[in-house]
Amino acid sequence: MIPLDRKINDLRGRRFGRLQIPTTAEPRIPRHHAEWPYLCDCGAKGWVRGTRLTQGRQVSCGCYRADPAVRQAARLRTPAKRRREIAGMGGLARRGPQ
Ligand SMILES: [Zn+2]
Repeated sequence: MIPLDRKINDLRGRRFGRLQIPTTAEPRIPRHHAEWPYLCDCGAKGWVRGTRLTQGRQVSCGCYRADPAVRQAARLRTPAKRRREIAGMGGLARRGPQ
C-alpha cells in the first residue's frame, strides 16, 4: 500500500451501492482528484472519482441505470421510495446526466 495524501479519503474496502473498492486498491490522481479502481456487482471493473462515491453520485458501473426494472420504474413515475426499493440500494432518484 502506498501512503495516502491526507486530502484523499481512504476508500479501500468500502462499498458504495454496487461498487466495491478492493482492499488492495491503489488510487491514482490524474488531475488532483483521486480515482479508485472498483469492482461492480455485475462483474465490471473500472475507475471512479472518489468524490463521486462519497457524495453518492455514482453507485454502479452504469449497469444500475440500465436495469430494466429501474428504467421501467422511472418511466412509470414510480415514487422515489418505491424506486429505491426496486433498486435495492437506496440511492437512485437522481435525474439528469451523470
Ligand atoms: Zn455494473
